[in-house]
Order: sequence, then structure tokens, then C-alpha cells
Amino acid sequence: MLFKDLGLHPDILSGISEIGFETPSPIQAAVIPYVLTNQDDIVGLAQTGTGKTAAFGLPMLHLTDVKQKVTQSLVLAPTRELCVQIASELRKYSSKMPQIRVVAVYGGEDIRKQLKELDQTPHILVATPGRLIDLMNRGKVNLANVNYLVLDEADEMLNMGFVDDITTILEQTPDTRRTLLFSATMPPEIANIAKNYMHNAHEIAVGKRGEAAQNVEHYFVLTKNTLRYEVLKRILDYYPAIYGIVFCRTRMETKEIAEKLMLDGYNADALHGDLSQPQRDSVMNKFRIKHLQILVATDVAARGLDVNDLTHVIHYVLPDDKETYTHRSGRTGRVNKQGMSIALVTPREKMSIKSIEKAIKRTFQPMEIPTGMAVCQRQLMHMLTQMSEASLHPKLHKLLPDAYEVLNEYSKEEIIAQLISYRFNPLLAYYENAVDLQAMMRKEPKEEVKPSRRQMRQADKGDTLRLKINRGKNDKMDPRRLLGLINDVVNDRKLAIGDIDISAKFTFFDVPKNRVEQVMEAFATSKRARGIQIALVKGTQGGKSKVEGRK
Ligand code: AMP
Repeated sequence: MLFKDLGLHPDILSGISEIGFETPSPIQAAVIPYVLTNQDDIVGLAQTGTGKTAAFGLPMLHLTDVKQKVTQSLVLAPTRELCVQIASELRKYSSKMPQIRVVAVYGGEDIRKQLKELDQTPHILVATPGRLIDLMNRGKVNLANVNYLVLDEADEMLNMGFVDDITTILEQTPDTRRTLLFSATMPPEIANIAKNYMHNAHEIAVGKRGEAAQNVEHYFVLTKNTLRYEVLKRILDYYPAIYGIVFCRTRMETKEIAEKLMLDGYNADALHGDLSQPQRDSVMNKFRIKHLQILVATDVAARGLDVNDLTHVIHYVLPDDKETYTHRSGRTGRVNKQGMSIALVTPREKMSIKSIEKAIKRTFQPMEIPTGMAVCQRQLMHMLTQMSEASLHPKLHKLLPDAYEVLNEYSKEEIIAQLISYRFNPLLAYYENAVDLQAMMRKEPKEEVKPSRRQMRQADKGDTLRLKINRGKNDKMDPRRLLGLINDVVNDRKLAIGDIDISAKFTFFDVPKNRVEQVMEAFATSKRARGIQIALVKGTQGGKSKVEGRK
């Protein structure tokens, strides 16, 4: 099916062909002919990225009577960003119909500017509910002639507490209007709105209810809490061309992860509720124009972010509810583009994958944590692709003779090896020492790591357990050195170390039993502890005397 088969006005067809729309997406193919040939209302179950703006926007433009200088269509959307995006899309689609006036009004911006824009009545008004009510109360908006009303991202509007505003607005519009409601999920409140305020609502779903976009692949990576950040970095390194969002659960976590990534040299920034509107706009713009590769964001702050072609969505921590997962992962895999949704989960969190799978009717594939060498290979291929795509500068020929002369004595293979070494030595050196995170997840034999039930019962009598490392008097180990080593490796001055015993080849020391995992993990991952093996001493309960803190 082609757009020209849908019965749209030739000016619309010409406008959309200019921006490269050729074939309608599934939601467009379903909604557009329905609106043009039926009077019934529509409930569209579709996420951002499915092309729903054009699905409701093209018939809206088609039905607009430009000679009537009244507001005929109203679009309600949850955020300022989404309003701006919808208005801009509508203006693009109607580029060949310059008489049509589209105005967007939303909170968070000086109302005076918007009041001025409304002096000339728009045919189409795009608004956030709160700001619209404000403008209605000031007598600046008249909804009496609205015959086409769209509720976009209705579930998000409800989440943001707009339900009363929406019903107030609905009641101010004529009962004869046609209503189109779009939502990624269908909570009971939405079903209620459809029941109470819509006529013969016809349901159109892209995929099934709450189902994630079809062109998204879902992966999970097993991690431990203590390794989460390292695993994230490894994944980011493995996808050098990534353009994606790392979702965190709290503002604190968002700030912390973004700051760490920036310090570690990633092209990342944070988007969260503590930013002022100008700061928020600046981050979003940088991300939108791809000057930023990685956006670390909370769910709330990312609402309405109008970015269309994310390669990846990473769940630093899985959200509590399935709807949020659907929204997050719907940001990748947009129209005709494959996307990846990758969740970092601990073995315990893996449980929630099952219930998400059930809700989205898709299965998650396990993903191994890439090894350092795999990252290097990926980065090399990425660099070579970029290299082969680079255009040759017209002035290059002036520099080439000198380069030929210097490189004359090298063979082709040597030149390739030298060039790659020049660029890749730092990365190879970094990864030479990097721990095999995947191996750490598979971990040493169980009894070495986790105290057995018997041990735990024994240890319950006391509160410390005994650890052993393969360094002793032969390695010049003494209590002071041991404490220095633990300090460097664990980096936690509050950790209390109990009795210490040093033999020729081994050192034994007691740590509080609730810190055993932390200490063992630190020894297994820290570069400072390279070559040192740590193990729990089986069947032994630690001594009681403690050395509080360390120098
Ligand atoms: P939406 O779901 O409306 O936010 O649209 C997502 C993106 O897909 C926007 O950038 C649209 O411009 C684009 N888009 C929508 N429909 C089509 C289509 N039929 N062909 C190509 N791109 C489209």
C-alpha cells in the first residue's frame, strides 16, 4: 500500500513525499483510511516511534477547512517536548498548505508569548492539559468548534496527574466531535475515558496490547550489584556507534552514573528532574542533534523526548512495572529500524524478566558480557568502517608525497599494523588488565564463595568469618601490609578487620560476615589484587577481637 492509495489531499501527499515518507507504517495504514471513511472514534494502541503522529495528523490536515478561521482540531499531549514535536511534524506534513495555522502551547514557557500567538486563531492547537486550562480560563481559547480531538500518550497524561484537566477539557468541546485516543498501554482509567467520553470507540492496535515494538530485540545481561557500572561500560564500549539512553531509577543514580561516565571519557550527559528548564533543553538538544551519544535519564525526565532513532535502550536497573519497560524499550526500534533493549539484572532481579516477557509477549535473549578482546575487535571494525567512509580532502594530495616517502620502506601489512597500533595501543593496554567480567559471573566453585548453611549457622554464633589469601611471610606479608592492601583493594575505611594469622604462604584474617561478599568481590575485580586468590576458610568461625578501621 502507498500513501497515494489512502485518499489524502494531493498537497498532503506532496508534503510528505518531500520528507521521504513512501509507505504508510501499520498504524497509519489502519488509522488513516478508517478516519476518512468512518465517523467512529478510535482508540489506538501504539507507542512513540510507530508513526502515530502522521496517523492522526494526516487525516486531521485533510479534514481541516482553512477558510473557517476557528480552532477545529485539538491535540493534547503530556509534555512540552512532545507538543513541540507534534506541531513541528504537522507543519512539515502541511508544508504545501501554508494557510493552515498550527500553534503549540505548553507549560514551562512564558505565557505572554503564547497569548500573542493565540491572537490569530489557529486551525490546529497542540497543548499540554494544564496550560490549556490556564489559557481557557483567560478566555484566549475557544473549543466550541473543535471537531477533531486527539489524546496522545494518554497513559502518560494520566501518570502525570492530568486526568481532571482532561475531563474538564473534553467537557468544553462539542459532543459531536470525533476523538482519537493513543496510548502505549491500556490501564483501566483509559478504558474509562474511552467508555465515558467516546462514541463507538474502534480499537486499532499495532501488535497486541502492551506489546513492545516488533523491531526491538530484548536482551538481559547478568551482573552483580557491585559490577553493574563495569558491565555498563563494557556494553557501551562494545557498541562504539551507540546512540542510546541509559535508564536509571532515581535522580541520584542518574547523576552518579552520568558523572562517572563523563569522567571515564564517554560522550554522555544526564537528564533528570533537578535540572532547570534551560539546562534540560540544552541536554535534549545536544542529544537530539547527536552531539551526545549517551543520555542517562530517569523515566520521568525522558517523557516526551522526541528522539527517533535510538540504537539502544539500556536498563541500568529494571523498572518496577511492565508499562515503564514498554515505554523505555519503545524508544528504540522506531519505524523501519531495528533496536536493542538491554537490561542489566542481578540473578535475583532476573525473576522480573519473566513477568515482563509475559506482558510484552516477547522473550529476552541472554547476552554475555563482552570480553576485552571482543571490545577491541568491535572498536577496530568500527574505526575501519569510519576510515573507509571518510571523504578525501582536496588538499590531501599536497601532504601525501611526504607520507609516501616516510612509509616507503614499510610493507602494506606493516603500515596497517603500525596505524592500528598507533590508535589501539591504549585500548589494548587497558583491556589487557581488565577482568573477565563474564568469568566473574560464572564465579569460582560455590562453596569457596558462599558460606554453606552450616558455616552460616556456625557464624551466627559469632559475627565474623575467616578469609584466606595466597600471600604469606615468604611474600613479606605482615599485618600492616595486609591492612594497606585491604585498604587499597576494598577502599572502605569503615571495614573492621579481626584476627590476623600469617603463615609462610598464606594470610588468614577475619571480617564481619555481612562484608565477606564485598571483600571477596573487591579482591576478584581490583587491579591492585591481581594474582591474589582469596577464599573463605571452610568450617572456621572467625575470632572475635577486632581492629576497628585502618590507617
Ligand atoms: P512518531 O511515532 O509519530 O513519533 O514517528 C516516529 C518517526 O517516524 C518520526 O520521525 C516520523 O517522521 C517518522 N515516520 C512516520 N511515519 C513514517 C513513514 N511512513 N515512513 C517513514 N518515516 C515515518
